[in-house]
Amino acid sequence: METYKYVIIGGGLAGQRGADGIRKVDSEGSIALVTAEPHAPYQRPPLSKGYLRGEEGLDKVYLKEEAYYAQNGIELVSGVRANEVDPAARRVTLDDKRTLRYEKLLLATGGHAWRLPIAGNNLLGVFTLRTIEDANAIRETAQGSKRALVVGGSFIGCEVASSLAQLGLGVTMVFPESRLLEPIAPPELSAWLHAMYEGNEVHILSGHTPEHLGGHRKVDHVTIRGDDSHLLEVDLVVMGVGIRLNTELARSAGLEMAEGGGVAVDATLRTSAPNIYAAGDIAAWPDPTFGKRLRVEHWDVARQQGLRAGQNMAGEGKPYTALPYFFSDLFDFSFEVWGNLASWDRVALRGSLESGSFAYYYFDEGKLMGVLASGRPDEERKPMQALVRERPVYEDVATKLPDESVELNALIE
Ligand SMILES: Cc1cc2nc3c(=O)[nH]c(=O)nc-3n(C[C@H](O)[C@H](O)[C@H](O)COP(=O)(O)OP(=O)(O)OC[C@H]3O[C@@H](n4cnc5c(N)ncnc54)[C@H](O)[C@@H]3O)c2cc1C
Repeated sequence: METYKYVIIGGGLAGQRGADGIRKVDSEGSIALVTAEPHAPYQRPPLSKGYLRGEEGLDKVYLKEEAYYAQNGIELVSGVRANEVDPAARRVTLDDKRTLRYEKLLLATGGHAWRLPIAGNNLLGVFTLRTIEDANAIRETAQGSKRALVVGGSFIGCEVASSLAQLGLGVTMVFPESRLLEPIAPPELSAWLHAMYEGNEVHILSGHTPEHLGGHRKVDHVTIRGDDSHLLEVDLVVMGVGIRLNTELARSAGLEMAEGGGVAVDATLRTSAPNIYAAGDIAAWPDPTFGKRLRVEHWDVARQQGLRAGQNMAGEGKPYTALPYFFSDLFDFSFEVWGNLASWDRVALRGSLESGSFAYYYFDEGKLMGVLASGRPDEERKPMQALVRERPVYEDVATKLPDESVELNALIE
């Protein structure tokens, strides 16, 4: 049995940042980073954007150069899965039969892409997108293809559709919601996105679902169900229909789970087992801004939580207080979101869609929940975040936010 001061399970962003966080506080304690994928830790956003289009290389995907791990005393155990965690014995069993003892453990096991359970979903040419291998396979197939179907109208679907269209494919998007990015976009933003997609030759079938994928070994058609059920000929299908969390280890270790399936952690990102922490897509933490448990599947949360968890494992014990943040790039439109847009009932708009400089402020039951911004002046970035943290009531700010002569700073108490 090998003994490490710290063991990290998961070689995504949260796992790698966990190692960074440990090293910020403890320059010597031994670290093993175990990851099932046959890669050094990497980040996923380029996989649906520049890397998928062949504009960026793996250097934009891997988080650190290979030498970093040895130079920082981090033993990288890649291509190996952790099968079991025993919190009482502080032991992790790996699928290569090794057993690692730890003083502190970080679970950063993320999620895996879900595949719609419909007929034909395993035909050649039908993909999900989570890993480098997925992106390589989609890109390779796209090279010899003319028509792609993208299933899903949320982030991955929108990003993949935009990348495939930029690669010159004729793209159809199909999703059951009535409009693009429905959960986070006000109707007029969705309409504006629809126009942008259609203008880039992407055909949108909202309110429809794929019923059956057909072909001899390789997909070549799909039947679409909706108001006008029909058959589409396709060379390639990408499903961007969400992920399932990799929480089997946490569950079998008996860790407390949160409602909705994440691993429950306290303000310092510690799980119900005193020496085990969790970060990234799997962690459900008590968020101080919104006064409730949140779990967020976004890059910046993995980045910041990984770091904080690592620092806390090495002895800092500070609360995680970062405001949830994410970004997306669709054609040449980029936007950022701060806060929690899980539920909202009203918005106030500053700027305009037509000018390319706008910020939607989202309210729920009268209180500010978050902001979605694109092309706003740099001076507004900090006040936007400060406003979301302060959570003003609708009546106090709704008429002032659209008035660009009112500085955002003036709205902060
Ligand atoms: C294509 C794509 C594009 C994205 N773009 C954006 C974006 O533009 N903006 C944004 O905010 N977010 C984006 N995201 C989301 C973001 O990448 C995720 O939130 C982030 O990857 C979560 O990091 P994580 O470390 O928690 O988990 P993951 O990245 O899922 O990493 C978990 C790792 O743990 C490994 N693992 C799991 N179980 C075990 C085990 N038992 N033993 C060993 N290893 C194990 C997995 O194989 C994986 O390597 C994107 C995601 C994808 C897939």
